Amino acid sequence: MGKWHKRALRAAAVIGVIALAGWLWLKPATAPEKLIFTGGPIVTMNPLQPTAEALYVNDGRIAGVGTLAAMRAVAEGSGGADEVDMNGASLMPGLIEPHSHPIAAAQFAATIDASGFAHKNRAEVMQTLREGVTDSTRDWVLAFGWDPVMIDDLEPPTLAELDALSPDKPLLILTQMMHDAYANSAAMEAAGIVGDVANPPAGEFVRDENGLLTGTVREVGAIGVLFSAMPPPPAGANDLLLSLFFADYAKAGYTTVATMGPVGNDADPISLLKRRAGNPHSPVQTIIYGLPHQITASQTPEANAATAPVVGVKFWMDGSPYAGGAAVADPYETTPLTTERLHLKPGHRGAVMIPVADYEAQFADYHARGFQIATHVQGEMAVERVLDVAERVLAANPRADHRHRLEHNALITAEQLARAHALDITTSFFIDHVRFYGDKLPALFGQERTERYMPIGTALRAGHRVTVHSDTPATPIGPLSSLVTMLARQPNSGGPVVGAGETLSREQALRALTINGARQLGLESERGSLEVGKQADLVMLSSNLVTVPVNEIENTVVLGTWINGQPVDTRKATLTNAGLLWDIVVGMIF
Ligand SMILES: [Zn+2]
Repeated sequence: MGKWHKRALRAAAVIGVIALAGWLWLKPATAPEKLIFTGGPIVTMNPLQPTAEALYVNDGRIAGVGTLAAMRAVAEGSGGADEVDMNGASLMPGLIEPHSHPIAAAQFAATIDASGFAHKNRAEVMQTLREGVTDSTRDWVLAFGWDPVMIDDLEPPTLAELDALSPDKPLLILTQMMHDAYANSAAMEAAGIVGDVANPPAGEFVRDENGLLTGTVREVGAIGVLFSAMPPPPAGANDLLLSLFFADYAKAGYTTVATMGPVGNDADPISLLKRRAGNPHSPVQTIIYGLPHQITASQTPEANAATAPVVGVKFWMDGSPYAGGAAVADPYETTPLTTERLHLKPGHRGAVMIPVADYEAQFADYHARGFQIATHVQGEMAVERVLDVAERVLAANPRADHRHRLEHNALITAEQLARAHALDITTSFFIDHVRFYGDKLPALFGQERTERYMPIGTALRAGHRVTVHSDTPATPIGPLSSLVTMLARQPNSGGPVVGAGETLSREQALRALTINGARQLGLESERGSLEVGKQADLVMLSSNLVTVPVNEIENTVVLGTWINGQPVDTRKATLTNAGLLWDIVVGMIF
């Protein structure tokens, strides 16, 4: 054997050993088929048997809930089971997030965080942007989360400031509400926004009194012009970003996340979601509510919940309360916040966005095909339009268990909640608006409307099985934060409680995060509680959420989640992610 051959063999052996070690290190841990969890409180969310000493899992399903002795006896009959001693930790059904935007959130997570969640004042935001631009190795620098409602002194950046931040590279800063963005000269030039360029449909390139571009662009039509000028992400990058971001939901305790209107910079967001969430090692499961243009005319809902099915359709009936978009019955208040910061005219109301005939035709069509219809509503007028249309369509074409949905529901009235319940329309509340924006509500809507903002208690009293959502990236993933807000309704600023009459009991609030979410998604026979026959979707927590004091809830540590009885791997270095990274590298070389 020649010298060259020996060297090649030795190199091959070394590579083989490294690959084997890497594989052993990256490969997911698998649980035995039969497991008994015990040694801590097991909270089932099943009212017939709220707590148990032990839980028996067999082949991905819950096979027994009861005393340890009883579970051992059941397991013995099928050859015995391994036991997991929880050492005092608690076990619950895996949490359910009924409304999120994982692709957009995954992409924004890879940009500069300019949000009010991470900054107290304008100086801090500008410092973060300066550092972010300096550190960025990308062709375009993107920042997300500029929030003039949460941060009191956050005047819009001037074009001179934007160009000073990034003199050469395109820079785009997106606001938290995603209705405005700020672009430097390089970004506008790259997108052809120069000279006397005309405004695009559904958007505005804002100009100063001399007719010169200011760098501010308004609404989706104008922001889209900048986005389409951006170089596309390398092939495979979105898969890796989404895979990493799915793990963030799992780290927070979720096992199911509904994707509501898949938005984000990807050519085919639904296929992307199916590839990632349909993977057997996915950190979370998803079901999808597509946008109308993402659903073909002959399509019907997909049934297999394990494959990231498209089950519903998403509409926007109005906009964001913090950008003047809520279609309120009475105008916004006239205050410095609404006039000077949000540029609203006195007497402003947000528009009801979909004409009634158009919405009714689409509603009737999707309803007849069996889809679940979810509609974004914040102001009373938006809610009213959905209820009027739903009432007519359901009268003409009744369908049991349609579970059409109202999303966010900031100012839905008691009467509208009763009407919705009579139509079996379900409600999901964006409860953490109370935490993050509660102190600003009087300046936007006055005291009467502040007291009935996100009226989740009124919804319960009207018979709704309410759910709550974080609408990530609109607010960070945060089931424990939502839980505290449901119980206490205390704004972050420490100001007065918002709507004391709308607080929930611990039991009601925990149902909103588990079994009620399962029902809203049509998955209650499979998920949402610990009952024999359901999927073994579990979350283990350092404290018992039924008994831990409110002010200690957010110190709770998520110790792990299981999907179908298998532990979820939330490490960044997994075989799946290594494979996705390899795909990107190969794609860039060839
Ligand atoms: Zn949303």
